[in-house]
Amino acid sequence: MHSNDTKAVSVSSRTTPPAVLAAATVLAASVAVLATGCGVASSPEEQVDDTFVSFEEFEATVYREPDTGIYIVDGDTPIEDRARLQVFYEQHVQAGALVVNRVGASDDRWSDAQKSSLTYCVSTTFGSNYNTVTQAMRQAAWAWQAVANVRLIHRSDQDGACSASNTNVVFDVRPTSGQLYLARAFFPSTTRANRNILIDASSFGNTSPYTLAGILRHELGHTLGFRHEHTRPEAGKCLEDNAWRALTTYDPTSVMHYPQCNGQNSGDLVLTDRDKSGAAALYGSKPAPTDAQISCVFDWAEIQYPTLFSPPAPGVLLFSAPYTYRPYPGTQSHLGAAWSSGNSIDKHIYYMGPSGTIEDQGPVGYWMEQASCP
Ligand SMILES: [Zn+2]
Repeated sequence: MHSNDTKAVSVSSRTTPPAVLAAATVLAASVAVLATGCGVASSPEEQVDDTFVSFEEFEATVYREPDTGIYIVDGDTPIEDRARLQVFYEQHVQAGALVVNRVGASDDRWSDAQKSSLTYCVSTTFGSNYNTVTQAMRQAAWAWQAVANVRLIHRSDQDGACSASNTNVVFDVRPTSGQLYLARAFFPSTTRANRNILIDASSFGNTSPYTLAGILRHELGHTLGFRHEHTRPEAGKCLEDNAWRALTTYDPTSVMHYPQCNGQNSGDLVLTDRDKSGAAALYGSKPAPTDAQISCVFDWAEIQYPTLFSPPAPGVLLFSAPYTYRPYPGTQSHLGAAWSSGNSIDKHIYYMGPSGTIEDQGPVGYWMEQASCP
């Protein structure tokens, strides 16, 4: 995404010929106030095309019996008046938010078999930016993994051969430059050769108020099948097409909403409550770790930071559901974990030292990965 420039906006389209795409890009640049890139599908540019159907346009296509004034939809279904037609439109035509891409009549999502092993490599050709990218990818991945039953796995052993033809990973993360976007991604239905997250060199400059992790949270949203939230008619701007299905109500602050498209986001791109519930609706909630898994993280912390957590202790104690903890009287400290099946709890690890101040240490899943806990 880009903050103060006129770069091309992009969006979704799966099978657009290059010439049409180029025209669309020009159109996008002229229409967009500022831009952002995040490509999708088979092309490096996201294409803007407006197949959005307003209620008035929809109404104009509906047959109306001359003598009764009754609307007929779906071939033979009568709708008595305009108010009811509006309801029909809202339910069946307009549809609604965190929105998942559609291919034909199906959601464009990873299967239950695939969703737990979405492997990726980060090209070592990022050079001095390599560590920045791997950390930002990890942060972005955990934002989604903490709220939905998906797992993005960095296969660092593939980073030296991280190309579009590497079939040991589901997708590759590579650098690019001179593009109209900050970064672009793909949808689950995209073929392997185009399953890339390409990060433009401009992403390593001033992208305020976005961080690279924020940009990648948005891109990974596409990777999981989510469309731009502003393709919903409620945005009234930057509409793309109707090949999507609503998972939640419209959310102008969604991580998938461009701010310049009548979005109400400010600051970095972060997952909102509706993003979280939409992701869980599509992939299921993140299963809660067992006490044994939480214990594994605490055990690891004791070894890593013996001066903070002493003496070593087993297991976890229940503080008050969904909070568990382990006390360390020797160092006057506690480790805690929060997790529930819903998304009202942040699923983070907490540290409380001698001062009694509770510090948020970030997602439980992140620490499980750090500690190599199963
Ligand atoms: Zn995007």
